[in-house]
Amino acid sequence: MKRIIVKTTVLVILGAIVNVAVAWGCALGHNIFNRAPAHSSGTAGDEIWEATWISDWGAVWVATSRVRPISADAIAYINPPRATLDASLSRYQKPSDAYTSADAEVMESCVTELRGWPFVSLYSQGRHLFTANDYSMMQRVKAVPPLVAGIDTGLTWQLSGATWPRASGATWPRVLPTRPIWHGFAVNTIFYAAILWLLFAAPGLVRRRRRLKRGLCPACAYPAGDGATCTECGEPLNVERVISVR
Ligand SMILES: [Zn+2]
Repeated sequence: MKRIIVKTTVLVILGAIVNVAVAWGCALGHNIFNRAPAHSSGTAGDEIWEATWISDWGAVWVATSRVRPISADAIAYINPPRATLDASLSRYQKPSDAYTSADAEVMESCVTELRGWPFVSLYSQGRHLFTANDYSMMQRVKAVPPLVAGIDTGLTWQLSGATWPRASGATWPRVLPTRPIWHGFAVNTIFYAAILWLLFAAPGLVRRRRRLKRGLCPACAYPAGDGATCTECGEPLNVERVISVR
């Protein structure tokens, strides 16, 4: 029993390591910025918001900008076709307290990148609160908000002018995500632990079963005899277990 707990724990830890390695591999190696982003904007209460996102295998990237109160400047820039942002995307884009409690015009920019496969399991995030006199609207578009979660690798993705007309020629940082998305993290960890178990434990189980079928000791493969233990190595030969294994 103790051995099973230790083995399971080791498998789960290895599964978690593989999960992180895959998420980081996706973040470093899978370019999603050559795809056309989806775009949405609208107003909600006293704010005007805009969202841009990309969903692909192993990756979700979402960038939102919120401005409040609604100014003529903001409307001119955001120009709503009214729409709502999907809850699965807006979950990570909630405004900060500093944004909601500001009493002058503010804009909050938030960019979240979720990575992992088969489910997204880790995310990075950049966030910045701008006041009206910080900069012009056009600079807001191109500004990369500083990271609040994640590791900047110093590498970048090239944004293609065909799919990113507003940011043509610009680059986007390649960031390693560090914050867990718990449900995805748990499912991926179990998924990789199961694969590791299949790779390492299953061949041994198959070999034991084959030996038992042929009347050989499962441990040493010598003819097992009819006793309760193997005559060669002393391994217990439990007949009931032999049947249940079949
Ligand atoms: Zn034996």
